[in-house]
Amino acid sequence: MKTLDDLLAEGVSGRRVLVRADLNVPLDGDKITDDGRVRASLPTIGALADAGARVVVAAHLGRPKGAPEAKYSLAPVAARLGELLGRPVALADDVVGASARATVAGLADGGVALLENVRFDPRETSKDAAERGALADEYAALADAFVSDGFGVVHRKQASVYDVATRLPAYAGGLVLAEVEVLKRLTDGAERPYVVALGGSKVSDKLAVISSLLPKVDAILVGGGMCFTFLAAEGLGVGDSLLEAEMIDTCKRLLAEYPEKIVLPADVVIADAFSAEANTHTVLAANIREGWKGLDIGPITVERYGAILAGAGTVFWNGPMGVFELAPFAEGTRGVAQAIVDSAAFSVVGGGDSAAAVRLLGLPEDGFSHISTGGGASLEYLEGKELPGVAILEA
Ligand code: ADP
Ligand code: MG
Repeated sequence: MKTLDDLLAEGVSGRRVLVRADLNVPLDGDKITDDGRVRASLPTIGALADAGARVVVAAHLGRPKGAPEAKYSLAPVAARLGELLGRPVALADDVVGASARATVAGLADGGVALLENVRFDPRETSKDAAERGALADEYAALADAFVSDGFGVVHRKQASVYDVATRLPAYAGGLVLAEVEVLKRLTDGAERPYVVALGGSKVSDKLAVISSLLPKVDAILVGGGMCFTFLAAEGLGVGDSLLEAEMIDTCKRLLAEYPEKIVLPADVVIADAFSAEANTHTVLAANIREGWKGLDIGPITVERYGAILAGAGTVFWNGPMGVFELAPFAEGTRGVAQAIVDSAAFSVVGGGDSAAAVRLLGLPEDGFSHISTGGGASLEYLEGKELPGVAILEA
């Protein structure tokens, strides 16, 4: 796999370099609520610009339906990227059209341009390789080399991630390289005990990773919305908590096969509404009331999970333990995250919301060995799937 360092060693001054970055930040209107992904992209973009490259950044935001939509414009991202880089970032108002061509043509050495949201073009995510290829040809016409730095999208076979890498000399950016190295450490010879903390909203999203991790790890601490399907599988009533009834049988099977490894909450915080103003109680997991919903793990569980995490050699955490966005339900996530920070384990946070929780709850980012920018990509890697955007760089 050729890397950014190889490209810099070749010399990039005056060359146009297309960088696929992951700048998919959470927005409130046109305000970026967490700029972690923009910050993470700075080293690669900055190194290229400092070396005199004409940097063309491609990125997506949200899930527009293959057509321009003002609320998914990268304009706020261009502004933030420019502030953080300390150089102006020219935003094209299309993906590969006249504006994109003119913006790239107008770049000086060391200049940075951002193409508009690549998902405004329906070919970006097309299942048809010829359609994606046609778009990739247009990306390739805008640049002389390609750097893949959007780890959050390398599990997608998309035009700006996969197809363009077959059309230009392609290199792994610092972010993709660092992520792949960390994930290898989690899959080959992780230091024991290997403890996984898994939360988030849906069991169905995470069952594949749970199944493939169970044989390899020592414990999976379950929290978040998904713990209720496991509690239901144990025969407990879960009131109005998040429940995926069609997953109960699978959870039962996993509990029967790995009774010691799957650790479920002993207590939970229940609420009578999904709201920061709701009435709340902390109850044993067996006492969830009819009509109430569990929105966080309770303090006994935090202590128990914390004790297990304290003795871990390796920790992978994906998915908040509760609805951390609402203050009354943030303590479970905070407590588990703090226990990971306090442990001496090699610790990896994977998952967009989990990484955002670290920052929003004010936990020290350097308290973790690595905070992954790509939730889905890291989960798919840990499931043992090939990541197309990485495989194509290795080819
Ligand atoms: P990640 O992005 O880290 O992989 P997910 O996307 O799987 O995490 O899940 C994040 C979401 O899960 C958060 O928005 C959080 O509010 C929600 N969540 C956590 N616990 C619960 C719960 N008990 N009930 C409903 N939603 C929950
Ligand atoms: Mg998420």
